[in-house]
Amino acid sequence: MIVVGAGLAGLGAALELAKRGIQVTVFEASGHPGGRTRTLRHPFSDGLYAEAGAMTVTENCHYTMHYLKEMGLETAPSDLVDTDFSYHRNGTRIRPDRIAAHAGELGLHPAERELSIQDMIAQYVTTPNEGIGPELVELTWTPTPRLLELDRISVREILEQRGASAAAISLIEPLFLEMRGGELEAASAMAWARYESGPRALSTAGAEWHKIKGGTDLLARALAGQLTDRIHYGKPVVRVAQDEHEAQVSFLDHNRIRTASADRVLITAPFSALRRVNLSMAGLSAEKHAAIRRLRYCSAVRVFLQVREKFWPEDKLMLSTDTPICTVRDATPSAPGPRKIVECWLTGWAAQAAAQLSPDERINFALNQLEPLLPGARDHFEIGTSIAWDTEPYIEGAYILPETGHAEIMAHTRKPEGRIHFAGEHTAFEPNGGSMNYALESAVRTMVELSAA
Ligand SMILES: Cc1cc2nc3c(=O)[nH]c(=O)nc-3n(C[C@H](O)[C@H](O)[C@H](O)COP(=O)(O)OP(=O)(O)OC[C@H]3O[C@@H](n4cnc5c(N)ncnc54)[C@H](O)[C@@H]3O)c2cc1C
Repeated sequence: MIVVGAGLAGLGAALELAKRGIQVTVFEASGHPGGRTRTLRHPFSDGLYAEAGAMTVTENCHYTMHYLKEMGLETAPSDLVDTDFSYHRNGTRIRPDRIAAHAGELGLHPAERELSIQDMIAQYVTTPNEGIGPELVELTWTPTPRLLELDRISVREILEQRGASAAAISLIEPLFLEMRGGELEAASAMAWARYESGPRALSTAGAEWHKIKGGTDLLARALAGQLTDRIHYGKPVVRVAQDEHEAQVSFLDHNRIRTASADRVLITAPFSALRRVNLSMAGLSAEKHAAIRRLRYCSAVRVFLQVREKFWPEDKLMLSTDTPICTVRDATPSAPGPRKIVECWLTGWAAQAAAQLSPDERINFALNQLEPLLPGARDHFEIGTSIAWDTEPYIEGAYILPETGHAEIMAHTRKPEGRIHFAGEHTAFEPNGGSMNYALESAVRTMVELSAA
């Protein structure tokens, strides 16, 4: 069996295959395991590190919790819990409990002016979602006609239909809708309502948010450690083909193209990256080709700025801003030393723009935007780094953006085609990816598929 990609889906699948005594070879394009779980330990001082990709896990992430336990890894409370969360709007810092005092300048409708953020979430999200019916939260669900109707409208449209002003949407978005990657106009209301109503949503997981103690990358490293020489790094797959006897995978090996064959191939590369792989002889259905072409990914840029000391009063700084650097947070609130890492987390069009800057320009851009929000940022800055997931080789996107019409391609993302199987967060049963749990779930689902085959 050949596995393409050593992210969590590829590693999870390869480990399960190896446990069953099946010969498995993993081709990974980059030089390391983990894909979108990446902990940046360089260029920071004092042992500081930052999460470029996944950083949170909840008790409802059963597959992630299972593998953490199996690998002997511990969790700690997430840094995203109990933050000193504030908004920064039109140049003013506004605490969530002071929204009413700023209602006019924020542009809230008269009927919204006395509402707290929790009231807005109840009025525009939770209560009407409950009214959609039990089909929204069915464990084994298939989109019903009512859900398909929702799949035709965007998250912004449904919130507007429910009476939310643009200002109210902008206030609840960072708390509730973060997985839409700042693209409410494109995101499917069906996928969103399902996500926000389910126990797996980070937003409904309450205080049960955890992080992996020591860094998220430890999980991938531990899984890869069990597979050792079965993983071949720096071997980008460039072509996948199949015939009635076998499947073939061609890959780059330094300056040569080599081909390996196996009984079956499992592709875990995100579709954004798979679009660059030649599949003309893979015998895939028109529906699969359409899904590979159509599936969109959210954009995210994360800029990390090491500062020589904390120069803000909050213990756990977390700012939702209306500036192009979107969310600003202390990425190392529990770090013991004086040094800290300030993170600017950009999504949507701001991330798409920043992805086009060079790494140095990106840091400069973030510092320029940060200075008015956190005066002294430039003076305290020591060193920085960033990641633009849109331009990250062999990834090319942060996590799936279930767009309107997502139901049409959902089932086709995961359907096996002959000897070729598909795993990865984008192939999850849920219409939302963006989770290590879904990546690992897809690995286990592939085992069931292979046993049936
Ligand atoms: C900014 C950000 C924040 C996130 N936050 C969270 C969070 O808090 N909690 C959470 O649970 N999840 C989070 N996620 C999502 C989570 O990281 C992903 O859903 C999950 O890691 C995806 O795993 P995967 O194996 O499906 O894909 P990937 O991790 O993308 O792995 C695919 C692998 O395939 C390789 N590959 C691609 N093309 C080829 C090729 N041609 N040949 C060989 N190899 C190839 C890639 O290099 C990569 O290693 C976040 C993601 C991002 C980007």
